[in-house]
Amino acid sequence: METTVSSASPRPWPLAPAPTAAAGPLLSVRDLCRHFPIRSRGFGRKVTGTVRALDDVSFDLFPGETLGLVGESGSGKTTTARCILRALAPTSGEVIFRPPGGRPVDLARLSDRELKPLRTQMQMIFQDPFSSLNPRMTVGQIVGEPLVIHGLAKGDALDARVDDILRRVGLKPEHRSYYPHAFSGGQRQRIGIARALIMRPSLIVADEAVSALDVSVQAQVLNLLKDLQAEFRLTYLFVAHNLDVVRHFCDRVAVMYAGRIVELAPAAQLFAAPRHPYTKALLAAVPWPDPDVKMKFDVPGEIADPSRLPSGCAFHPRCKQCFAPCLSQRPLLLDPVGDAHFVACHLHDPSHQHVA
Ligand code: SF4
Repeated sequence: METTVSSASPRPWPLAPAPTAAAGPLLSVRDLCRHFPIRSRGFGRKVTGTVRALDDVSFDLFPGETLGLVGESGSGKTTTARCILRALAPTSGEVIFRPPGGRPVDLARLSDRELKPLRTQMQMIFQDPFSSLNPRMTVGQIVGEPLVIHGLAKGDALDARVDDILRRVGLKPEHRSYYPHAFSGGQRQRIGIARALIMRPSLIVADEAVSALDVSVQAQVLNLLKDLQAEFRLTYLFVAHNLDVVRHFCDRVAVMYAGRIVELAPAAQLFAAPRHPYTKALLAAVPWPDPDVKMKFDVPGEIADPSRLPSGCAFHPRCKQCFAPCLSQRPLLLDPVGDAHFVACHLHDPSHQHVA
């Protein structure tokens, strides 16, 4: 039986809508956790610890908006994306999806069978346009496969749908019979976008969708994504390491550290006046040339180990502004001045301001 969401939230939630959002959220993530047990070697494989890859992540995503998810490698942004799409099962929390014209459902609680029809509404664009396309399939087979899997089109109708979406992403119908190796990186990413869009989804999760592309090609693909967003009223969750891209492409930005969101704000506001010490350090480290190369920035130490998170604020061992409450009290994600600029830092918590 389909799992639906009760109208009453188990507790009041402080995340106000984005300033531009007229409608309710398409997606509401609440207290999302993904923990992995650490097991001993040998007989019994006893659980000896827990990796807290995601820890109480909450945010809303509004129809037609682009929310950027940024942070260092290991901050939990890709795990968040994978849990939302149920490529990974969350340990706890809610992922409430409101498909246009449909009832809200908690994706975190659905079985694979219940999820299948909803997968037409949620699609992913992958980072690597070289490995994400099957080299033994033609472009027509790759792009049309989701329609075939869901039994939505075949024969001439399938070919017509494929031709149409190829044109919309800047390719040609004759490309239908080509194999992926015949295309450049940018063209392959267009094929990946066509495959994601052919189901007419409402939510697209783009995981480092342009980071493998040359800078000039990145701009073309980002422009294409913006045009398609306007044409199909798409909502994007945009996972990225490149803050320059995020600044120009996203409406709002969530900054993650050690499996938690530490700041969430409209993009212009976050880049003009960041509040969290970690965000300030990230912005000072722009540009980030390569997601696989460890970033160097003006913060001592390494990102917190998710199997041994520090007490209080997980950032406290690296924070130059750390003060007493940071050592023992975990900061909540608050909107301290009511401008939809959320921050999880005791410096901005009114209850600690007499101390700071
Ligand atoms: Fe730094 Fe404390 Fe704020 Fe954490 S809560 S970022 S340690 S000032």
